[in-house]
Amino acid sequence: MTLLDRLIADHKTGLYVDGGWHASGDGAVIEVRDPSTEEVVAEVASGTAEDGLGAVTAAHAAFPGWAESAPRKRGEILRRAFELMMSREKEYAGLIVAENGKAFSDAMGEVRYGAEFFRWFSEEAVRNRGEVYRSPSGDKRISVLNQPIGVSLLVTPWNFPIAMGTRKIAPALAAGCTIVLKPASDTPLSSLAMADLFEEAGCPPGVINVVPSARSGKVVGAMMADRRVRKLSFTGSTETGKLLLAQAAPRVLNTSMELGGNAPFLVLEDADLDLAVEGAMQAKMRNAGEACTAANRFYVAASIADEFADRLSAAMAALKVGPGMEPGVDVGPLINAATRDKVAELVEEAGGTVTTGGRAPAGRGYFYLPTVIKDVARGAGILAAEIFGPVAPIVRFDDLDDAIAQANDTDLGLISFVFTSDQRLGMEVAERLEAGMVGLNRGLISDPSAPFGGVKESGLGREGSHHGIHEFLEPKYIGAPW
Ligand code: NAD
Repeated sequence: MTLLDRLIADHKTGLYVDGGWHASGDGAVIEVRDPSTEEVVAEVASGTAEDGLGAVTAAHAAFPGWAESAPRKRGEILRRAFELMMSREKEYAGLIVAENGKAFSDAMGEVRYGAEFFRWFSEEAVRNRGEVYRSPSGDKRISVLNQPIGVSLLVTPWNFPIAMGTRKIAPALAAGCTIVLKPASDTPLSSLAMADLFEEAGCPPGVINVVPSARSGKVVGAMMADRRVRKLSFTGSTETGKLLLAQAAPRVLNTSMELGGNAPFLVLEDADLDLAVEGAMQAKMRNAGEACTAANRFYVAASIADEFADRLSAAMAALKVGPGMEPGVDVGPLINAATRDKVAELVEEAGGTVTTGGRAPAGRGYFYLPTVIKDVARGAGILAAEIFGPVAPIVRFDDLDDAIAQANDTDLGLISFVFTSDQRLGMEVAERLEAGMVGLNRGLISDPSAPFGGVKESGLGREGSHHGIHEFLEPKYIGAPW
């Protein structure tokens, strides 16, 4: 029996509130589709605004006890969650494939990456240190405690249904916050499976609540307007992020924002081309390009641009495209028809020369072939859009300063990549790139122990590392006579 079959058989496809499974207030459901067959694989309860507020009530009631609980206890629950998830990694990966479509190998990578946040923050839970020091005038003892911020609303996207949840759940719980998680409606099952996992790990009722909903605007809006909610941690598009920031303003609601990316990938003249192509494949093709960290624009020194394009095209053409659970598949379908059509449109309008792919294969499923477009002109529309698909546009450059200027010519700034054999030059370029993260001679740098996040319109705050827990803590200063 698969994890999906078990969730359905055990009636765990409802809203998870206060440790129990419930139908939505008005009986509405979300049809979850397998993107490789377009068929409905499950029906999940679609919460109403009142359901969302019910979850806030549960999280609010559970907060004092959870915040007061021993940090070691919280850490051990997270550690058990890590062990349980890792002991069933294939089952969780299979569930991701069922609702998101990605290749099983990508899904396994996601489960391991995602579970690692539980382990990392199980360790951070017991390292919440404050400070004590004397004021400069000598009159005061300054004590600073870091206290849990309170009931936290977590809103996640569909592209990493497990990992985008764990990256928020783990630091929130470690900090002593209780949560309401609103997953994307394309992929609610992974979050429901995680609620079940935490129950097994010994998490008390009300600490974790999960409210899927197809009416995200209404449900999230109602929860954000409720004064018992003290935090919004959001991952998704910049467009939605801006809307939520505006909604947060009247309440001065504390927000963390992980938003869109438009990553430049620079290949300098002296780069090791084997390494650059390997890095490009990782940076572009993890999750079929449906990653906020995906390399979106390739700027390649003119003298090596043709060779780089040839090698990248060969590597892309060798990938096997198909349903995520089929053996040997490297690239699954995109999430839905709209996403596939948007990718196709961007390719049609990109200009340049398509050297491989460039179309959606015939048949069912939202597939798009791995595509390379060389000699794309600067200013082409595809360079300004977040492609979110398996497409690599290549632009030649003659002058490094100009390439860096082009790389920085965007309102987004999540991640950038640079490949060069000159480590010192690489560090210099990395420092000049306007991004929260830079991969230097590496195509994949996400790591739970490192701060993940963007600058400019790519977001506010950081997830992972010791920074991640501070998004859910507030410093409290107590001044007393020395
Ligand atoms: P999205 O903004 O459409 O949706 C994200 C979440 O917000 C979903 O749960 C959705 O239901 C909810 N939502 C949508 N509209 C809402 C509204 N009006 N009010 C309240 N909630 C609303 O994004 P998506 O399409 O699910 O995800 C893809 C985007 O996420 C890309 O732009 C990608 O770059 C970004 N992303 C960023 C990171 C990061 O860490 N920076 C990670 C993954 C994805």
